Amino acid sequence: MLAQPHPNRRDPVAETGHRRELKYPEVPEPLGALCYDNHTHLEIEDGEVGLDVVEHMDLAARAGIAGAITVGGDVASSRWQVEAANREPRLLAAVAIHPNEAPRLAAAGGLEAALDEIEALAHDERVAAIGETGLDYYRTSGDDNLRAQLESFERHIDLAKRLGRPMQIHDREAHDDVVATLRRVGAPAGTVFHCFSGDAALARIAADEGWFVSFAGNVTFKNAPNLREALEVLPRELVLVETDAPFLTPIPFRGRPNAPYLVPVTVRFMAEHLGADADALAARIAENTLGLYGPFEPEARRAWLAERAA
Ligand SMILES: [Zn+2]
Ligand SMILES: [Zn+2]
Repeated sequence: MLAQPHPNRRDPVAETGHRRELKYPEVPEPLGALCYDNHTHLEIEDGEVGLDVVEHMDLAARAGIAGAITVGGDVASSRWQVEAANREPRLLAAVAIHPNEAPRLAAAGGLEAALDEIEALAHDERVAAIGETGLDYYRTSGDDNLRAQLESFERHIDLAKRLGRPMQIHDREAHDDVVATLRRVGAPAGTVFHCFSGDAALARIAADEGWFVSFAGNVTFKNAPNLREALEVLPRELVLVETDAPFLTPIPFRGRPNAPYLVPVTVRFMAEHLGADADALAARIAENTLGLYGPFEPEARRAWLAERAA
């Protein structure tokens, strides 16, 4: 099988202007339970030598990570994820137009056609979720752009509900409007805040609504006590974990390439913060992940989908 080339590469220069260390961190010891990466971007190459999807998932297996959801942000990357998840049985895909991409497409008159293509892709049996969609007030501004972003978010919500798929939300500096939109139009069953960036108050809302909260490596960062406070108040059955790789590498590897095999670093940190057993937390997160998205393994997944359709 030919390797699937990466369409994108992560900038080797950090936002601070320094060249990042491009060496992948060592593989952590597996946890006592298999675990899953709720959200990653395997189409973005990083490291001294980029890893293809099989290499990524072989490394993940050495760290006790049984599967990952690789997430698109435009038509091309969504198609890439679906292809990857059809080649590699330890992967599932998520497809969407990212909230920062939607305004660009709308301005060029291409949002409708792109949403149609996302819907066509979303029918593939390897697509676990619609995402990432949502609102991003950090990178998007201007009335027209914000209108297009909201329109795109609502269209993704509608798609997730019509197809009966979970939805992964990207919420950056837009907590109030994300919550208001979900409440106004009705959230899909299986709503997930990916790379949760809120605080205990938003976590309490998620807990009340039964929305999942997925923690990325930034839960380990010194400057993010709000994320740890959110973790403390959440019922464990709503907690997920992700890498958002190749970004947000957990400490002590911050700035270096990130990948699904580093999930145990974040789970161990979360467990330590909670005073919980890391293996038990991993088992709980795995159960949450599989309960939400269904099995990864192709035959089991086909049976599960058939049962739900019946
Ligand atoms: Zn995101
Ligand atoms: Zn992402």
